Amino acid sequence: MRLVSNSTDVRAGIVVTGTELLTGLITDRNGPWLAQRLGELGVEVAHLLRVGDRPADLAAALRFLADQGVELVVTSGGLGPTADDVTAEVVAGFAGVELELDGLMEQRIAVILARFRRLSGFDPAGLLAANRKQAMVPRGAQALDPVGTAPGLVVQVDGGPTVIVLPGPPRELQTMWPAALATPAAKAVLARTQPFESAQLRLFGLPESQIAVTLREVGETLDLTPLEITTCLRRAELVIDIRHRPGAEAIRDALVEQIRVKHARYLFSTDGTSLDQQLAGLLRGRRIGTAESCTGGLLAARLTEQPGSSDYVAGGVVAYSNAAKTELLGVAPELIEQHGAVSPEVARAMADGARDRLVADVGVGITGVAGPGGGTDAKPVGYVCVCVTTNDGTALAGDPVLPGDRAEIRDRSVTVAMHLVRRVLARRDPA
Ligand code: ATP
Repeated sequence: MRLVSNSTDVRAGIVVTGTELLTGLITDRNGPWLAQRLGELGVEVAHLLRVGDRPADLAAALRFLADQGVELVVTSGGLGPTADDVTAEVVAGFAGVELELDGLMEQRIAVILARFRRLSGFDPAGLLAANRKQAMVPRGAQALDPVGTAPGLVVQVDGGPTVIVLPGPPRELQTMWPAALATPAAKAVLARTQPFESAQLRLFGLPESQIAVTLREVGETLDLTPLEITTCLRRAELVIDIRHRPGAEAIRDALVEQIRVKHARYLFSTDGTSLDQQLAGLLRGRRIGTAESCTGGLLAARLTEQPGSSDYVAGGVVAYSNAAKTELLGVAPELIEQHGAVSPEVARAMADGARDRLVADVGVGITGVAGPGGGTDAKPVGYVCVCVTTNDGTALAGDPVLPGDRAEIRDRSVTVAMHLVRRVLARRDPA
């Protein structure tokens, strides 16, 4: 949901190339990344296009963007040595210039390929042909040093946009980005933008419709037009992004304060930190153990995504069957018999069992019905019991019915569990 939009000075288009993106074989990681970086620089991304490897399709995308009057185009992919890597050639055609050999670049690529040849033992003749192709740059363009083997390009089109041409592999593209921005042509465009200031709020448990009401109410007494506000649900959390030009800080702070007052119970981050990062901080000096049934280890996986998590993650047990719950976690069979494997009682016993067996200070138990089968009236698909217990006798539990398909229910269960851990630890550690 986008509530307020300001027009910006510089509009840009992004063209992500690669037939594998259109067939669904891979998910685009470059378009969203570039859109975020451009947004931070104060550039409005007007179009994000994905095209296959056909030269005519890429050329059409560039013409379309030029017709829209964008001042900046960023492309990703198609810079490699193979026949379907046509971006440099198409961009040269778009700019109305010839491709010419950049001798210096040819030497640089030769050095890279020599290293590669030593490591891989590939045919030198083939690599040298590749070398030459990748050193062909549109006349007048600035070539950017390769991160892999392909140089990037910055091309100023006469009477059209500046085109930044970057390689497809996301690590190469991201590493090359600062060099592209440092070129005179890119700097000239960016000099006309004013970077955005931004703030991000994260809430858990508040419906998106409610925040819409709050923003409407605040808007009655506070002029929010200098702010661009977007709200969206991400992994069961409500994220509010606020962007503005320099000078609107006081309005932004007033809005943040009103949201803080109205929704203190749900607001857990005002500085952009994620739940995962906050937990990493809160768990420092402690040890956490997890016991998971329906999430099959997703909580342990998410906790250990954080670098340095070995300092506080003791371990995790995936206890899917009743027997595993009993044998690995010490959950009494009678408890399962009496309340069912998906019950607050069993979630608590799993949390205690994880703490005990893994010698941890904090234990988490998750058991639920991830679906699509297995639901009953009393315990429908999405019913998940989560419990967090600690060595000093604190226990915090929840048993929501979560929406979504199996994957979403499992992912949301982990988020619910992590928020319970955060609440337990933040209470003792208010800083
Ligand atoms: P090179 O040929 O040197 O690898 P390139 O510029 O020709 O670079 P592509 O051939 O378009 O890049 O892509 C190479 C690989 O990089 C793809 O097979 C894919 O694995 C990855 N890649 C390319 N574009 C994207 C993208 N938008 N999102 C995620 N991965 C991508």
